[in-house]
Amino acid sequence: MQEQIDNVVEILVKAKNAVALTGAGISTESGIPDFRSPGGLWSKVDPGEFSIDRFLQNPGRFWRLNLSLKQSGEFDLASAEPNLAHFALAKLERLDILKCLITQNVDNLHQRAGSVEVVEFHGNFLRAVCMKCKTLEPINEVEERLMSGQEDTPRCLKCGGILKPDAIFFGEAIPARALMISQIQSQKCDTLLVIGTSLQVFPAAQIPIAVKVKTPPATVIEINREPSALHKQVSDILLVGTASEIMAELIEKLEKRVGVTSALN
Ligand code: NAD
Repeated sequence: MQEQIDNVVEILVKAKNAVALTGAGISTESGIPDFRSPGGLWSKVDPGEFSIDRFLQNPGRFWRLNLSLKQSGEFDLASAEPNLAHFALAKLERLDILKCLITQNVDNLHQRAGSVEVVEFHGNFLRAVCMKCKTLEPINEVEERLMSGQEDTPRCLKCGGILKPDAIFFGEAIPARALMISQIQSQKCDTLLVIGTSLQVFPAAQIPIAVKVKTPPATVIEINREPSALHKQVSDILLVGTASEIMAELIEKLEKRVGVTSALN
């Protein structure tokens, strides 16, 4: 592992266009369960609850389920704090090594850790969006109205349209801008860090495939507790372990290598 991390440091130092793709696994150490690991969200909730069809059948039911997951602490994004892996990626950006971070996560933790160039591939669950006029509202304000019993099905304060978390549900399209930026970044990318994702959700999982089939192909470095579904196909280097430990070690070595000695966060 040490040798592999030293190797990754050298690759990152030489990279001209490093990009990161992150998934739910980078946030498990912040207390947010991923979907597919043992004890993950899918062992507690039917994934069908997160489909757009079921949401539209009964939005109020979804909002109540969401509130109960939050109140029981099973999926409480607002109380989570970024961990060392989030801070390490923000640091990589400040060092001008990481040019873009594409995240499948909807928890806002990269932004809170200080990452700026963040592509929210699946949206952001800390916001609600009006399905009619697209007005955004902080989700905690919507939840407060639900909890106080003012509303059963949350509605837009401007136009009365139905509110939905501003995140992609199963059956919905990826936001056009996020998709376009990701495609451009995949073409420019020479080094792709894939962190905490099972690579089972498409089109996000298409990103490491796209960077491998282009000419010249990018170097793909995967960091995962369990190897991803595509590791044999796409990963040049596979680091198996927890994201915070590996990323903390990586950034420490990298800072020594480039002569920077500031605190991680
Ligand atoms: P996934 O649940 O399919 O896979 C998680 C991956 O992360 C697995 O490979 C697992 O081995 C790995 N992992 C778990 N903990 C880890 C750790 N501490 N260090 C390193 N690796 C770790 O998640 P996915 O591939 O991101 O796809 C699921 C979808 O779920 C995504 O679209 C995402 O939007 C959504 N999701 C987001 C959040 C969040 O925002 N935090 C949480 C759950 C699900």
